[in-house]
Amino acid sequence: MGSTDIGIITSSTSYQYVKEVFGDKVSVLKIGIIWPLPDKLILDFASKVKKLYVVEELDPFIENHCKELGLSVTGKDLLPLCDEFSQSLLESRFDLPEKPFRTFPEAVPPRPPVLCSGCPHRGIFYVLQKLKCTVIGDIGCYTLGSAAPLSAMDINICMGASVSAEHGFNVALGKESQNRTVSVIGDSTFVHSGMTSLADIAYNQSASTVLILDNSITGMTGHQQNPTTGYNIKGDPAGKIDLEALCRAMGINRVEVVDPYNLAQCEQVLKEELQADEPSVIICRRPCVLLKAVRTAAPLTVDREKCVGCKACMKLGCPSISIRDGKATVDETLCVGCGVCKELCRVGAFTGKTMME
Ligand code: SF4
Ligand code: SF4
Repeated sequence: MGSTDIGIITSSTSYQYVKEVFGDKVSVLKIGIIWPLPDKLILDFASKVKKLYVVEELDPFIENHCKELGLSVTGKDLLPLCDEFSQSLLESRFDLPEKPFRTFPEAVPPRPPVLCSGCPHRGIFYVLQKLKCTVIGDIGCYTLGSAAPLSAMDINICMGASVSAEHGFNVALGKESQNRTVSVIGDSTFVHSGMTSLADIAYNQSASTVLILDNSITGMTGHQQNPTTGYNIKGDPAGKIDLEALCRAMGINRVEVVDPYNLAQCEQVLKEELQADEPSVIICRRPCVLLKAVRTAAPLTVDREKCVGCKACMKLGCPSISIRDGKATVDETLCVGCGVCKELCRVGAFTGKTMME
């Protein structure tokens, strides 16, 4: 195939499949942002090829637009509407020989998803698990609090549902639920779809304890700004919602702010707010450790003489900590010195200055 005979318009992961399958044998127009679509670029590209394809997953969005531009294009006649594409799928649909899969001599070790080393959500989930709370979670990077060994999320429904579900539990079960149930929701999700439910809690005065995990960014989808960060999507200064003031304005009298790296503080405030006979909000505030502005500390080390191998630190699920020859060890390439492990080790085996010090 000459490079001007066949043209493929594609974007995103589909572009990677196209390049792996076709290499430089076809002309490729990779669309970076699919709205608004670049009409002139598409028409120029189409004028230089004899046969035009669109390779895109799911709905024929680019394809339909090309047809509206009057182009003759093949897309969903050849490729499926459902499921993810792959190199093999393109090879079979374009009638090309399938390349054999590469095999590895050893099995790849399983790597379950975990919160990052130094993640500010880890501390609060550790405390929630320790206090055996019923935790109604929400959608965000903090949903990983449900994964072992933290296993600190019992229910997760959909965006914004944690707060309203907690209200429902507490109304239905009364004290039995109020004194041990919390909802956890990130700052971004809270302003997206959690605020309305908190207003209902305040209005109906259910003794619910809502935890807003404020990591100053939208973590799960790649660090987008949100109305609580003070910046717009381009990084320019923007309006900033004051979460404490917002909760109070809604009618929540008990609003506490804790540092999730401070386990003792988290535990004390949680116990107090769970016993309260009125609605309360605990804002767990500490920026995502992956933000450029966050100053991390040097990795901690474990004093093997002091470590008794109790594995208490392993309950944090920090990917930097493992047990070697019966003693804890810290991966210095991963550890950011958050200090949470140092705080919980009863024999003081972790050494080094932490982000808290
Ligand atoms: S470092 Fe501390 S908490 Fe971890 S295994 Fe050793 S003694 Fe236990
Ligand atoms: S200080 Fe401890 S908990 Fe924090 S990243 Fe390092 S090993 Fe993990």
